[in-house]
Amino acid sequence: MQKSQLQSSEKKIPHPIEFGAYSEHVPGQIPSALKYATGRFMEQRAACLDELPEWEALRQAGSAIRLHTLENLDFYLEKLDQQVIAAGGQVHWAKDAADACEIVLELARQHAVKRAVKVKSMATEEIGLNHALQEVGIEVVETDLGEYIIQLMGTGPSHIVAPAVHLKKEQIAEVFSQEFGIEAPTDPVELTAIARRVLREKFLAADLGISGANFLVAETGTLVIVTNEGNGRMCTTLPDVHVAVAGIDKVVPDWESLSVLLKLLPRSGAGQKISVYTSFITGPRRAKDEHGPSEFHLVLLDNGRSRILQDPGGRETLKCIRCGSCLNICPVYRNVGGYAYGWCISGPIGAIFTPQILGVQQAGELPFASSLCGACDEVCPVRVPITDILLHLRRRVAEGDAYEPAVVATPLRAAAALGRQALGTGWLYRLGGRLLPWLQIPWLRAGWLYKLPPPLNRWTKVRPLPAFRAHFRNWWKRRHQVSTGDQP
Ligand code: SF4
Repeated sequence: MQKSQLQSSEKKIPHPIEFGAYSEHVPGQIPSALKYATGRFMEQRAACLDELPEWEALRQAGSAIRLHTLENLDFYLEKLDQQVIAAGGQVHWAKDAADACEIVLELARQHAVKRAVKVKSMATEEIGLNHALQEVGIEVVETDLGEYIIQLMGTGPSHIVAPAVHLKKEQIAEVFSQEFGIEAPTDPVELTAIARRVLREKFLAADLGISGANFLVAETGTLVIVTNEGNGRMCTTLPDVHVAVAGIDKVVPDWESLSVLLKLLPRSGAGQKISVYTSFITGPRRAKDEHGPSEFHLVLLDNGRSRILQDPGGRETLKCIRCGSCLNICPVYRNVGGYAYGWCISGPIGAIFTPQILGVQQAGELPFASSLCGACDEVCPVRVPITDILLHLRRRVAEGDAYEPAVVATPLRAAAALGRQALGTGWLYRLGGRLLPWLQIPWLRAGWLYKLPPPLNRWTKVRPLPAFRAHFRNWWKRRHQVSTGDQP
Protein backbone atom coordinates (compact mmCIF):
# COMPACT_ATOMS: atom_id res chain seq x y z
CA MET A 1 0.00 0.00 0.00
CA GLN A 2 1.28 3.47 -0.93
CA LYS A 3 1.79 5.97 1.85
CA SER A 4 -0.56 8.38 0.10
CA GLN A 5 -3.33 5.79 0.36
CA LEU A 6 -2.94 5.49 4.10
CA GLN A 7 -5.55 7.01 6.35
CA SER A 8 -4.34 9.63 8.81
CA SER A 9 -4.74 7.18 11.68
CA GLU A 10 -2.06 4.99 10.12
CA LYS A 11 0.67 7.56 10.76
CA LYS A 12 3.89 5.86 11.78
CA ILE A 13 5.22 6.43 15.27
CA PRO A 14 8.83 6.06 16.44
CA HIS A 15 9.53 2.45 17.39
CA PRO A 16 8.16 2.40 20.93
CA ILE A 17 10.05 -0.55 22.33
CA GLU A 18 13.31 1.38 22.14
CA PHE A 19 14.05 3.23 25.36
CA GLY A 20 14.05 6.98 24.77
CA ALA A 21 11.55 6.82 21.88
CA TYR A 22 9.10 8.90 23.92
CA SER A 23 11.62 11.48 25.11
CA GLU A 24 11.35 13.54 21.91
CA HIS A 25 7.73 14.35 22.81
CA VAL A 26 8.56 15.95 26.17
CA PRO A 27 6.80 19.35 26.04
CA GLY A 28 8.77 22.54 26.60
CA GLN A 29 6.46 23.53 29.44
CA ILE A 30 4.69 21.49 32.08
CA PRO A 31 1.19 21.02 30.62
CA SER A 32 -1.41 22.57 32.94
CA ALA A 33 -3.86 19.93 31.68
CA LEU A 34 -1.70 17.25 33.28
CA LYS A 35 -1.81 18.77 36.76
CA TYR A 36 -5.51 19.50 36.46
CA ALA A 37 -6.46 15.99 35.32
CA THR A 38 -4.26 14.12 37.81
CA GLY A 39 -5.55 16.40 40.59
CA ARG A 40 -9.14 15.59 39.59
CA PHE A 41 -8.38 11.85 39.62
CA MET A 42 -7.02 12.13 43.16
CA GLU A 43 -9.98 14.20 44.39
CA GLN A 44 -12.47 11.71 42.94
CA ARG A 45 -10.46 8.85 44.42
CA ALA A 46 -10.49 10.43 47.89
CA ALA A 47 -14.26 11.02 47.71
CA CYS A 48 -14.83 7.43 46.58
CA LEU A 49 -12.67 5.94 49.35
CA ASP A 50 -14.37 8.03 52.02
CA GLU A 51 -17.46 5.91 51.42
CA LEU A 52 -15.55 2.65 51.82
CA PRO A 53 -14.30 2.07 55.39
CA GLU A 54 -12.97 -1.38 54.45
CA TRP A 55 -10.53 0.10 51.86
CA GLU A 56 -7.38 -0.83 53.81
CA ALA A 57 -8.63 -4.38 54.34
CA LEU A 58 -9.34 -4.62 50.60
CA ARG A 59 -5.84 -3.37 49.78
CA GLN A 60 -4.39 -6.02 52.07
CA ALA A 61 -6.52 -8.71 50.42
CA GLY A 62 -5.55 -7.45 46.93
CA SER A 63 -1.88 -7.51 47.82
CA ALA A 64 -2.14 -11.05 49.25
CA ILE A 65 -3.98 -12.30 46.13
CA ARG A 66 -1.36 -10.82 43.79
CA LEU A 67 1.51 -12.22 45.84
CA HIS A 68 -0.06 -15.68 46.11
CA THR A 69 -0.62 -15.72 42.32
CA LEU A 70 2.98 -14.72 41.59
CA GLU A 71 4.29 -17.37 43.97
CA ASN A 72 2.23 -20.01 42.13
CA LEU A 73 2.37 -18.47 38.66
CA ASP A 74 3.32 -21.68 36.83
CA PHE A 75 0.30 -23.48 38.31
CA TYR A 76 -2.19 -20.73 37.44
CA LEU A 77 -0.80 -20.19 33.93
CA GLU A 78 -1.10 -23.87 33.18
CA LYS A 79 -4.68 -23.85 34.45
CA LEU A 80 -5.45 -20.75 32.38
CA ASP A 81 -3.99 -22.39 29.28
CA GLN A 82 -6.18 -25.49 29.77
CA GLN A 83 -9.33 -23.47 30.40
CA VAL A 84 -8.87 -21.16 27.38
CA ILE A 85 -8.43 -24.22 25.15
CA ALA A 86 -11.43 -25.95 26.76
CA ALA A 87 -13.51 -22.83 25.92
CA GLY A 88 -12.49 -23.07 22.26
CA GLY A 89 -9.67 -20.49 22.29
CA GLN A 90 -6.02 -20.87 21.35
CA VAL A 91 -3.05 -19.96 23.53
CA HIS A 92 0.33 -18.74 22.24
CA TRP A 93 3.39 -18.25 24.45
CA ALA A 94 5.69 -15.35 23.55
CA LYS A 95 9.11 -15.13 25.16
CA ASP A 96 9.74 -11.53 24.09
CA ALA A 97 8.38 -8.56 22.13
CA ALA A 98 9.61 -9.84 18.74
CA ASP A 99 8.09 -13.24 19.38
CA ALA A 100 4.71 -11.74 20.36
CA CYS A 101 4.63 -9.48 17.28
CA GLU A 102 5.50 -12.41 15.04
CA ILE A 103 2.63 -14.49 16.50
CA VAL A 104 0.12 -11.69 15.78
CA LEU A 105 1.59 -11.08 12.32
CA GLU A 106 1.30 -14.77 11.49
CA LEU A 107 -2.35 -14.78 12.57
CA ALA A 108 -2.93 -11.65 10.47
CA ARG A 109 -1.31 -13.37 7.46
CA GLN A 110 -3.42 -16.51 7.93
CA HIS A 111 -6.61 -14.40 7.85
CA ALA A 112 -5.44 -11.97 5.16
CA VAL A 113 -6.06 -9.08 7.56
CA LYS A 114 -6.13 -5.58 6.06
CA ARG A 115 -7.54 -3.59 8.98
CA ALA A 116 -7.25 -4.03 12.75
CA VAL A 117 -9.03 -2.16 15.52
CA LYS A 118 -7.51 -2.02 18.97
CA VAL A 119 -8.54 -1.63 22.57
CA LYS A 120 -6.10 0.39 24.69
CA SER A 121 -3.40 -2.01 25.86
CA MET A 122 -0.07 -1.31 27.54
CA ALA A 123 1.20 -4.80 26.60
CA THR A 124 0.82 -4.00 22.89
CA GLU A 125 2.56 -0.63 23.46
CA GLU A 126 5.37 -2.52 25.19
CA ILE A 127 5.96 -4.82 22.21
CA GLY A 128 5.48 -2.12 19.55
CA LEU A 129 2.64 -4.04 17.89
CA ASN A 130 1.20 -1.10 15.92
CA HIS A 131 4.59 -0.50 14.41
CA ALA A 132 4.99 -4.18 13.45
CA LEU A 133 1.54 -4.35 11.81
CA GLN A 134 1.98 -1.06 9.94
CA GLU A 135 5.34 -2.27 8.61
CA VAL A 136 3.50 -4.98 6.65
CA GLY A 137 0.81 -2.59 5.41
CA ILE A 138 -2.00 -3.38 7.87
CA GLU A 139 -4.11 -0.40 8.92
CA VAL A 140 -4.22 -0.27 12.74
CA VAL A 141 -6.70 2.00 14.49
CA GLU A 142 -6.67 2.73 18.18
CA THR A 143 -10.25 3.09 19.34
CA ASP A 144 -9.92 4.38 22.90
CA LEU A 145 -10.47 8.13 22.46
CA GLY A 146 -7.22 9.15 24.19
CA GLU A 147 -5.21 6.53 22.30
CA TYR A 148 -6.87 7.58 19.05
CA ILE A 149 -5.85 11.21 19.60
CA ILE A 150 -2.22 10.36 20.33
CA GLN A 151 -2.16 7.99 17.37
CA LEU A 152 -3.28 10.87 15.15
CA MET A 153 -0.52 12.98 16.65
CA GLY A 154 2.08 10.27 16.03
CA THR A 155 3.11 10.05 19.69
CA GLY A 156 2.58 7.46 22.43
CA PRO A 157 0.68 7.43 25.74
CA SER A 158 1.83 9.86 28.44
CA HIS A 159 -0.17 8.10 31.17
CA ILE A 160 -0.98 4.41 31.59
CA VAL A 161 -4.72 4.99 32.10
CA ALA A 162 -5.35 8.33 30.37
CA PRO A 163 -2.98 8.35 27.37
CA ALA A 164 -3.73 11.95 26.29
CA VAL A 165 -3.91 13.39 29.81
CA HIS A 166 -1.41 16.14 28.94
CA LEU A 167 -3.61 17.65 26.19
CA LYS A 168 -6.17 20.46 26.43
CA LYS A 169 -9.42 20.37 24.44
CA GLU A 170 -8.12 23.23 22.26
CA GLN A 171 -5.09 21.12 21.26
CA ILE A 172 -7.33 18.15 20.46
CA ALA A 173 -9.60 20.39 18.33
CA GLU A 174 -6.49 21.51 16.44
CA VAL A 175 -5.46 17.89 15.79
CA PHE A 176 -8.95 16.98 14.52
CA SER A 177 -9.10 20.11 12.34
CA GLN A 178 -5.79 19.21 10.68
CA GLU A 179 -6.57 15.51 10.30
CA PHE A 180 -10.13 15.76 9.03
CA GLY A 181 -9.92 19.10 7.20
CA ILE A 182 -12.73 20.60 9.28
CA GLU A 183 -13.15 23.47 11.72
CA ALA A 184 -13.33 21.25 14.82
CA PRO A 185 -15.07 22.81 17.84
CA THR A 186 -13.44 22.83 21.29
CA ASP A 187 -16.46 21.30 22.97
CA PRO A 188 -15.46 17.84 24.35
CA VAL A 189 -18.87 16.33 23.57
CA GLU A 190 -18.68 17.41 19.94
CA LEU A 191 -15.06 16.27 19.65
CA THR A 192 -16.07 12.85 20.99
CA ALA A 193 -18.93 12.70 18.48
CA ILE A 194 -16.49 13.39 15.61
CA ALA A 195 -14.19 10.59 16.77
CA ARG A 196 -17.15 8.25 17.22
CA ARG A 197 -18.35 8.83 13.65
CA VAL A 198 -14.90 8.05 12.22
CA LEU A 199 -14.38 5.05 14.46
CA ARG A 200 -17.78 3.46 13.72
CA GLU A 201 -16.67 2.96 10.12
CA LYS A 202 -13.39 1.47 11.27
CA PHE A 203 -15.08 -1.03 13.60
CA LEU A 204 -17.38 -2.23 10.82
CA ALA A 205 -14.56 -2.62 8.30
CA ALA A 206 -12.04 -4.38 10.59
CA ASP A 207 -10.95 -8.00 10.07
CA LEU A 208 -9.07 -8.26 13.34
CA GLY A 209 -9.79 -7.03 16.86
CA ILE A 210 -6.82 -6.64 19.21
CA SER A 211 -7.02 -6.17 22.94
CA GLY A 212 -4.92 -6.49 26.05
CA ALA A 213 -6.31 -7.79 29.32
CA ASN A 214 -6.84 -6.24 32.70
CA PHE A 215 -7.08 -9.71 34.21
CA LEU A 216 -7.15 -13.36 33.10
CA VAL A 217 -9.20 -15.70 35.29
CA ALA A 218 -7.42 -19.07 35.47
CA GLU A 219 -10.51 -20.86 36.86
CA THR A 220 -12.52 -20.43 33.63
CA GLY A 221 -10.01 -19.07 31.06
CA THR A 222 -11.84 -15.72 31.02
CA LEU A 223 -10.36 -12.48 29.71
CA VAL A 224 -11.46 -9.38 31.63
CA ILE A 225 -11.38 -5.94 30.01
CA VAL A 226 -12.20 -2.80 31.98
CA THR A 227 -13.05 0.32 29.94
CA ASN A 228 -15.14 3.46 30.14
CA GLU A 229 -15.94 3.88 26.46
CA GLY A 230 -17.48 0.70 25.13
CA ASN A 231 -14.89 0.50 22.37
CA GLY A 232 -13.58 -2.69 23.98
CA ARG A 233 -16.82 -4.51 23.24
CA MET A 234 -16.87 -3.31 19.63
CA CYS A 235 -13.27 -4.47 19.05
CA THR A 236 -13.81 -7.86 20.61
CA THR A 237 -17.18 -8.70 19.05
CA LEU A 238 -17.36 -7.15 15.55
CA PRO A 239 -14.20 -8.48 13.78
CA ASP A 240 -14.14 -12.19 12.99
CA VAL A 241 -10.85 -12.76 14.84
CA HIS A 242 -9.94 -11.52 18.33
CA VAL A 243 -6.33 -11.58 19.50
CA ALA A 244 -5.55 -10.61 23.10
CA VAL A 245 -1.96 -9.84 24.14
CA ALA A 246 -1.40 -10.02 27.89
CA GLY A 247 1.56 -10.20 30.24
CA ILE A 248 1.84 -13.46 32.17
CA ASP A 249 1.40 -11.39 35.33
CA LYS A 250 -2.26 -10.65 34.47
CA VAL A 251 -3.52 -14.01 35.66
CA VAL A 252 -5.76 -14.25 38.77
CA PRO A 253 -6.74 -17.57 40.35
CA ASP A 254 -10.55 -17.33 40.36
CA TRP A 255 -13.66 -15.15 40.31
CA GLU A 256 -13.52 -14.55 44.05
CA SER A 257 -10.02 -13.05 43.71
CA LEU A 258 -11.19 -11.08 40.69
CA SER A 259 -14.05 -9.54 42.66
CA VAL A 260 -11.53 -8.03 45.12
CA LEU A 261 -9.32 -6.63 42.37
CA LEU A 262 -12.32 -5.20 40.51
CA LYS A 263 -13.22 -3.24 43.65
CA LEU A 264 -9.70 -1.84 43.86
CA LEU A 265 -8.90 -0.97 40.23
CA PRO A 266 -11.57 1.60 39.24
CA ARG A 267 -11.70 3.22 42.68
CA SER A 268 -7.95 3.70 42.84
CA GLY A 269 -7.41 4.74 39.24
CA ALA A 270 -10.25 7.12 38.44
CA GLY A 271 -12.26 7.34 41.66
CA GLN A 272 -15.08 5.24 40.17
CA LYS A 273 -17.02 2.64 42.15
CA ILE A 274 -17.16 0.59 38.99
CA SER A 275 -15.97 1.20 35.43
CA VAL A 276 -18.63 1.86 32.81
CA TYR A 277 -17.89 -1.39 30.96
CA THR A 278 -16.40 -4.56 32.46
CA SER A 279 -16.32 -7.24 29.77
CA PHE A 280 -15.79 -10.96 30.41
CA ILE A 281 -14.76 -12.99 27.37
CA THR A 282 -14.50 -16.77 27.54
CA GLY A 283 -13.43 -18.23 24.21
CA PRO A 284 -14.85 -17.40 20.76
CA ARG A 285 -18.48 -17.35 19.58
CA ARG A 286 -20.37 -20.58 20.31
CA ALA A 287 -22.50 -22.37 17.68
CA LYS A 288 -25.72 -20.94 19.13
CA ASP A 289 -24.35 -17.35 19.28
CA GLU A 290 -25.38 -14.89 16.59
CA HIS A 291 -22.42 -12.55 17.00
CA GLY A 292 -18.82 -12.58 18.09
CA PRO A 293 -15.49 -13.67 16.63
CA SER A 294 -15.11 -17.16 15.26
CA GLU A 295 -11.55 -17.34 16.66
CA PHE A 296 -10.09 -16.23 19.96
CA HIS A 297 -6.32 -16.19 20.47
CA LEU A 298 -4.52 -15.37 23.71
CA VAL A 299 -0.85 -14.36 23.42
CA LEU A 300 0.82 -14.74 26.81
CA LEU A 301 3.79 -12.41 26.97
CA ASP A 302 6.84 -12.97 29.14
CA ASN A 303 9.27 -10.30 27.84
CA GLY A 304 11.40 -10.32 31.00
CA ARG A 305 8.65 -10.94 33.55
CA SER A 306 9.94 -14.38 34.58
CA ARG A 307 13.35 -12.74 35.16
CA ILE A 308 11.69 -10.16 37.45
CA LEU A 309 9.92 -13.01 39.22
CA GLN A 310 13.25 -14.61 40.12
CA ASP A 311 14.47 -11.48 41.90
CA PRO A 312 13.10 -11.26 45.48
CA GLY A 313 13.95 -7.54 45.56
CA GLY A 314 11.98 -6.66 42.42
CA ARG A 315 9.32 -9.38 42.26
CA GLU A 316 6.50 -7.34 43.76
CA THR A 317 6.60 -5.02 40.73
CA LEU A 318 4.46 -7.67 39.05
CA LYS A 319 1.67 -7.18 41.61
CA CYS A 320 0.77 -3.96 39.75
CA ILE A 321 -2.76 -3.82 38.31
CA ARG A 322 -2.02 -0.65 36.24
CA CYS A 323 -4.49 1.62 38.01
CA GLY A 324 -2.38 4.74 37.44
CA SER A 325 -2.81 6.27 40.90
CA CYS A 326 0.93 6.26 41.64
CA LEU A 327 1.32 8.55 38.59
CA ASN A 328 -1.50 10.84 39.71
CA ILE A 329 -0.01 11.39 43.16
CA CYS A 330 3.67 11.53 42.17
CA PRO A 331 5.17 15.05 42.44
CA VAL A 332 7.82 14.11 39.88
CA TYR A 333 5.39 12.71 37.30
CA ARG A 334 3.02 15.67 37.75
CA ASN A 335 5.89 18.05 37.04
CA VAL A 336 7.65 16.31 34.17
CA GLY A 337 4.84 14.34 32.47
CA GLY A 338 4.92 10.81 31.08
CA TYR A 339 7.17 11.32 28.04
CA ALA A 340 10.14 12.22 30.26
CA TYR A 341 10.26 8.57 31.37
CA GLY A 342 11.36 7.59 27.85
CA TRP A 343 9.09 4.55 27.49
CA CYS A 344 5.42 3.61 27.39
CA ILE A 345 5.06 2.90 31.13
CA SER A 346 5.68 6.13 33.01
CA GLY A 347 5.51 7.46 36.56
CA PRO A 348 6.66 5.54 39.63
CA ILE A 349 5.58 2.16 38.22
CA GLY A 350 7.54 2.98 35.03
CA ALA A 351 10.56 3.92 37.13
CA ILE A 352 10.66 0.37 38.53
CA PHE A 353 9.15 -1.67 35.67
CA THR A 354 11.11 -0.27 32.72
CA PRO A 355 14.65 -0.81 34.13
CA GLN A 356 13.74 -4.40 34.98
CA ILE A 357 12.29 -5.10 31.53
CA LEU A 358 14.86 -3.23 29.42
CA GLY A 359 17.77 -3.54 31.86
CA VAL A 360 19.57 -0.90 33.90
CA GLN A 361 22.18 -0.48 31.16
CA GLN A 362 19.42 1.20 29.13
CA ALA A 363 17.01 2.59 31.71
CA GLY A 364 19.21 2.86 34.80
CA GLU A 365 18.42 6.56 35.24
CA LEU A 366 14.75 5.92 36.01
CA PRO A 367 15.07 4.62 39.60
CA PHE A 368 16.70 7.97 40.40
CA ALA A 369 13.73 9.92 38.99
CA SER A 370 12.06 9.97 42.39
CA SER A 371 12.19 12.04 45.55
CA LEU A 372 11.44 8.85 47.57
CA CYS A 373 8.58 10.68 49.27
CA GLY A 374 6.63 7.41 49.44
CA ALA A 375 3.29 8.87 48.24
CA CYS A 376 3.09 6.11 45.60
CA ASP A 377 3.40 3.39 48.27
CA GLU A 378 0.53 4.94 50.18
CA VAL A 379 -1.91 5.03 47.26
CA CYS A 380 -1.07 1.73 45.58
CA PRO A 381 -4.18 -0.48 45.85
CA VAL A 382 -2.12 -3.69 45.90
CA ARG A 383 0.72 -2.36 48.04
CA VAL A 384 3.56 -2.57 45.53
CA PRO A 385 6.52 -1.41 47.67
CA ILE A 386 7.66 1.08 45.02
CA THR A 387 10.13 2.97 47.23
CA ASP A 388 11.87 -0.23 48.36
CA ILE A 389 12.15 -1.40 44.74
CA LEU A 390 13.51 2.00 43.66
CA LEU A 391 16.24 1.66 46.28
CA HIS A 392 16.88 -1.95 45.24
CA LEU A 393 17.36 -0.83 41.62
CA ARG A 394 19.53 2.14 42.59
CA ARG A 395 21.79 -0.35 44.37
CA ARG A 396 21.84 -2.49 41.20
CA VAL A 397 22.83 0.53 39.11
CA ALA A 398 25.55 1.56 41.56
CA GLU A 399 26.98 -1.76 42.66
CA GLY A 400 25.61 -4.42 40.32
CA ASP A 401 24.05 -7.68 41.55
CA ALA A 402 23.33 -11.24 40.47
CA TYR A 403 21.07 -9.91 37.66
CA GLU A 404 23.08 -7.11 36.07
CA PRO A 405 26.49 -5.49 36.46
CA ALA A 406 26.83 -1.94 37.80
CA VAL A 407 26.47 0.88 35.29
CA VAL A 408 27.93 3.71 37.36
CA ALA A 409 31.45 4.69 36.23
CA THR A 410 34.31 3.59 38.49
CA PRO A 411 35.40 7.16 39.49
CA LEU A 412 31.87 7.98 40.56
CA ARG A 413 31.67 4.75 42.56
CA ALA A 414 34.98 5.62 44.23
CA ALA A 415 33.70 9.13 45.03
CA ALA A 416 30.49 7.69 46.50
CA ALA A 417 32.49 5.23 48.63
CA LEU A 418 34.64 8.11 49.87
CA GLY A 419 31.54 10.16 50.63
CA ARG A 420 30.02 7.27 52.56
CA GLN A 421 33.23 6.88 54.55
CA ALA A 422 33.38 10.61 55.32
CA LEU A 423 29.72 10.85 56.34
CA GLY A 424 30.00 7.76 58.55
CA THR A 425 33.20 8.78 60.39
CA GLY A 426 32.74 11.61 62.91
CA TRP A 427 36.22 13.16 62.81
CA LEU A 428 36.46 12.88 59.02
CA TYR A 429 33.06 14.54 58.63
CA ARG A 430 34.06 17.43 60.93
CA LEU A 431 37.38 17.89 59.13
CA GLY A 432 35.65 17.87 55.73
CA GLY A 433 33.13 20.45 56.95
CA ARG A 434 35.96 22.82 57.86
CA LEU A 435 38.06 22.22 54.74
CA LEU A 436 35.39 22.26 52.02
CA PRO A 437 34.60 26.01 52.14
CA TRP A 438 38.34 26.61 51.41
CA LEU A 439 38.83 23.82 48.90
CA GLN A 440 35.97 25.04 46.73
CA ILE A 441 37.39 28.55 46.20
CA PRO A 442 38.94 27.90 42.72
CA TRP A 443 35.49 27.01 41.30
CA LEU A 444 33.39 29.49 43.32
CA ARG A 445 31.42 32.34 41.70
CA ALA A 446 28.60 34.25 43.43
CA GLY A 447 27.65 31.35 45.68
CA TRP A 448 27.76 28.69 42.92
CA LEU A 449 30.35 26.16 41.82
CA TYR A 450 31.17 25.96 38.09
CA LYS A 451 33.20 23.48 36.00
CA LEU A 452 34.24 21.12 38.81
CA PRO A 453 36.88 18.45 38.04
CA PRO A 454 35.87 14.81 37.30
CA PRO A 455 33.80 13.00 38.46
CA LEU A 456 31.75 15.98 39.72
CA ASN A 457 31.94 17.62 36.29
CA ARG A 458 29.06 15.35 35.15
CA TRP A 459 26.80 17.66 37.13
CA THR A 460 28.50 21.00 36.47
CA LYS A 461 28.66 20.38 32.70
CA VAL A 462 24.90 21.00 32.71
CA ARG A 463 24.26 23.28 35.68
CA PRO A 464 26.20 24.87 38.59
CA LEU A 465 26.24 23.30 42.04
CA PRO A 466 25.31 25.36 45.13
CA ALA A 467 28.45 26.20 47.13
CA PHE A 468 29.11 24.78 50.58
CA ARG A 469 28.13 27.74 52.73
CA ALA A 470 28.98 26.84 56.31
CA HIS A 471 29.92 24.06 58.61
CA PHE A 472 26.58 22.33 59.25
CA ARG A 473 27.24 21.45 62.90
CA ASN A 474 28.12 25.08 63.75
CA TRP A 475 25.06 26.29 61.88
CA TRP A 476 22.87 23.80 63.73
CA LYS A 477 24.36 24.78 67.11
CA ARG A 478 23.73 28.48 66.44
CA ARG A 479 20.17 27.79 65.24
CA HIS A 480 19.44 25.77 68.39
CA GLN A 481 20.86 28.52 70.62
CA VAL A 482 18.72 31.16 68.92
CA SER A 483 15.54 29.07 69.14
CA THR A 484 16.07 28.19 72.85
CA GLY A 485 17.31 31.68 73.77
CA ASP A 486 20.66 30.30 75.05
CA GLN A 487 23.64 32.60 74.69
CA PRO A 488 26.12 31.47 72.08
S1 SF4 B 1 2.10 0.36 41.13
FE1 SF4 B 1 0.17 0.37 42.29
S2 SF4 B 1 -0.51 2.49 42.15
FE2 SF4 B 1 1.01 2.24 40.51
S3 SF4 B 1 -0.17 1.67 38.70
FE3 SF4 B 1 0.46 -0.23 39.71
S4 SF4 B 1 -1.26 -0.79 41.02
FE4 SF4 B 1 -1.53 1.36 40.50
